[in-house]
Amino acid sequence: MEEAEKEQHQKRMQKQKEKVDSHIASATIERGVAILLTGNGKGKTSSAFGMVLRAMGYGHKIGIVQFIKGAQQCGEADYIWQHANNVELQQMGTGFTWNTQDKTADIEAAERTWLHAERMLQDESLNLVVLDELTYMLGYKYLDRHKVIEAISQRPHEQSVVVTGRGGGRELRTVMDTISEVKDIQHAFRNGIKARIGVDY
Ligand code: ATP
Ligand code: MG
Repeated sequence: MEEAEKEQHQKRMQKQKEKVDSHIASATIERGVAILLTGNGKGKTSSAFGMVLRAMGYGHKIGIVQFIKGAQQCGEADYIWQHANNVELQQMGTGFTWNTQDKTADIEAAERTWLHAERMLQDESLNLVVLDELTYMLGYKYLDRHKVIEAISQRPHEQSVVVTGRGGGRELRTVMDTISEVKDIQHAFRNGIKARIGVDY
């Protein structure tokens, strides 16, 4: 590499470092964050469980509530049942609403499952709470959205919460610090490829 090129690179990186350092210095607030992982693409639940693993690395206490899931197999849940300490996992266990086809039973199951979420969102000993597929409970109006939004916004100061699922509504977004949308560009399923064990579930 030419000397001039090296010098130019070093200058550019120094400028970049100054920019990054100044951004880091201006973020001074210490508290738990609310994260919404939404969008039509694949990767929302698996990202939430990525954060579970990350938090487990620090010995954090975690609460997970899976709405919908439980009827189908889910590798992360199986692993947690068998091996994880400091993780409480609750599942609604009814499967998708187009399978149950029973609105009254679905609402009852959603309410019953929500009680676990509400308790976790009041538990100061939990560092992280994951509410997987919660958005569908709001979309179908199985849960009162005001109740959900209030519980999330009133949670302990140090607690982080991750909500996953498509949609969720504008109001839910108002209590979120971080919102990421996973965009569906291509999905194997549309080319006839079956959901893959260990990858899709
Ligand atoms: P994952 O659990 O893999 O992170 P996800 O939580 O983003 O996915 P969900 O909408 O909860 O997605 O659906 C879970 C299942 O549906 C997974 O098996 C996933 O591969 C599949 N899936 C997700 N997005 C799509 C899509 N756009 N088309 C078809 N199947 C999808
Ligand atoms: Mg999901």
